[in-house]
Amino acid sequence: MIGKRILLSIALFSLLIVSSCKEDDGGNDPMIDRTANLQATGDSANDLLSDTTYTSLALEIVSVRGFELRPSSVQNLTTFLNARINKPGGIRIVQRSIDAPQNEDYSLQQIANIERDQRQIYNSEDEIAVYLFMANRKSEEDTDPDSFTLGAAYRNTSFVLFGSVIQDLGTSNNGVSTAQIESATLNHEFAHLLGLVDLGSPMVEDHLDEENGQHCDVPNCLMNFQITFTSGAMNMMGSTIPELDPLCIADLQANGGK
Ligand SMILES: [Zn+2]
Ligand SMILES: [Zn+2]
Repeated sequence: MIGKRILLSIALFSLLIVSSCKEDDGGNDPMIDRTANLQATGDSANDLLSDTTYTSLALEIVSVRGFELRPSSVQNLTTFLNARINKPGGIRIVQRSIDAPQNEDYSLQQIANIERDQRQIYNSEDEIAVYLFMANRKSEEDTDPDSFTLGAAYRNTSFVLFGSVIQDLGTSNNGVSTAQIESATLNHEFAHLLGLVDLGSPMVEDHLDEENGQHCDVPNCLMNFQITFTSGAMNMMGSTIPELDPLCIADLQANGGK
């Protein structure tokens, strides 16, 4: 997402956290304490990167049927994470498909409601849990007909990919494959949860793109804001998936990563 939007979404979700706390904490299942998974984006960066509190990671992926991730994207993410986070107990991926919860574009509130209804895995003693929703429609905040949001990291352990937007790129045929865009978006949004840029993992050296907040000013870095939009992603990608530049990697290493 671009700066304004990410700021907006963080602000809105702060409100949601406050207003929904009671309901979520009491919840349908009083045995589950969801509090630790209802914090702001970047708040769990150190817990995800280091093995101080959590020695393993669970990634729960809930996809609207027909919008499941490609196996290659899941594999690329696992490789990306294994190179950067300290989880000696490993990474566990749990995937499930559901019927479309709605057939209209998604508001942030609706995405949060779906998480409340569908998410099954929360932090446990030594395992930190992350939740991903693969949506069948775009964000309702997209108003520019030429540029759509590909994904959003909206809480400390929650993110969404707009699968329909990613799939539509396959038909636009600009020399960049849908598989590449999907994989890059997946890694990019997860890297926000790891605290990039200056979102929970403090910068070792200044490389913040101030105009497009929480992104990296190094061209072609995975965390450059260009990648978050269809047209920008097209411009950035040749035949490979963008990687983190040394400045982003240094931030992760300084916050418990590797
Ligand atoms: Zn981003
Ligand atoms: Zn970077």
